[in-house]
Amino acid sequence: MARRAVIVVCDSLRQDLIRPDVAPVLSGLVEGACAFRSFRSVFPSTTRTSSASIATGCRPATHGLLGNTMALDEGEGLVCRSVGDPDFRTRMRRATGRTLKVPTLAERLAPHGGVVVMSNVSPGAAYFHDPDGWGHVYHRAGSFGPGLVPETGDRHLAIRIGADGDRTMTDRFCGEVLRERRPAVGVLWLSEPDHTGHGEPLGSPAHRAAIRAADDRVADVIAAVDALERAGDEVLLVVCSDHGMETTRRTVDATARLVDSGLKEAADSTDIVLAPNGTGAVIYAAPHARGRADDLRRFLEGEDWVGAVFAGPELAALGLPVGGDVLMALTTAADDRVNAHGVAGHADIVADPESSRSYDGFGQHGGIGANEQNPFLVIRGGGFATRRATAHPASLVDIAPTVLRHLGHAAEGMDGAPLPLDPSPVQVV
Ligand SMILES: [Zn+2]
Repeated sequence: MARRAVIVVCDSLRQDLIRPDVAPVLSGLVEGACAFRSFRSVFPSTTRTSSASIATGCRPATHGLLGNTMALDEGEGLVCRSVGDPDFRTRMRRATGRTLKVPTLAERLAPHGGVVVMSNVSPGAAYFHDPDGWGHVYHRAGSFGPGLVPETGDRHLAIRIGADGDRTMTDRFCGEVLRERRPAVGVLWLSEPDHTGHGEPLGSPAHRAAIRAADDRVADVIAAVDALERAGDEVLLVVCSDHGMETTRRTVDATARLVDSGLKEAADSTDIVLAPNGTGAVIYAAPHARGRADDLRRFLEGEDWVGAVFAGPELAALGLPVGGDVLMALTTAADDRVNAHGVAGHADIVADPESSRSYDGFGQHGGIGANEQNPFLVIRGGGFATRRATAHPASLVDIAPTVLRHLGHAAEGMDGAPLPLDPSPVQVV
């Protein structure tokens, strides 16, 4: 009899969009297992930060990965970089001497059965489960085993982002990873419904089909886990999303606004650097520009696209570091209007200078809006209560310690804590 954990992430799936007609398997799981209704993401509520927070049990301030984009000083001042690029971890090592500041599940469990990750989101999001190569990470941009040795030929995961690739990946995860290789932890990170949600209106037929496709993949994993349990394994099954989405109301060139205000020297200057993260942004400052903080805050609070500004202790409360290069963060203005498909929540987003793609009318995330901070978490097995819905506080950072407790290992140095097996039930309306 072996204890193991399986984590499935349906990227971007909002809790309120799990309905029996669109997601029958997930609806059944929520009903029959232990559903944490108050589950929250981290800030920025982006996939790459979320991956690192699930992997480490820590908030961004502790693990050091501060968004889908972040500013790094590689010797020529602060420059905003995409964490999604395959080479970002190399840049981060060059700028800071390391990747994540704390160990991942892959590192902790390397001598105890190991971790295998299969991910179909961005390369950066996949690699930050295990940036230093303690276990195995499979991704279409490159697959790696221990020591970051490439997995080549048939061992590489040659798929495309989207539902078809998710299906190919899930087949391999259920067969090769769960049934044959049997690691202590298997992580399956689906690209849907995030991939479609960024290019179609939330709740549209295409978006609902993408949710249905993710639901089908969850069914595949449940069948594989059922077989493991029949064979005697004690499996902790964690099914969740990393964040939700808001509908994009308008895209704002925030960097241009800062330059217009006179608080940033030029679009590509290194004094004040804004790292766009959808409906959120993190603002970095060189030492000589940190004195502009009060003026910057006043300016941002007068902008109609800014929802809230965070600095000093407010950054710490948000889970971001204080005292380093980060000066300030913001979440964009939002409203709770319903879109043409009955899905609530709109927000402005911050333009990403590296991407010309428009998200207007489509889904985005990154901030602390009500819907993007409403992902779902349901846990089955491992002694968790069944047919239970609870409002017990839960966050992405609680997943790793919960997994370690199930496997019989300590979880020192994590911001999160193991979730209670028998949390108080709530009447969910
Ligand atoms: Zn995501």
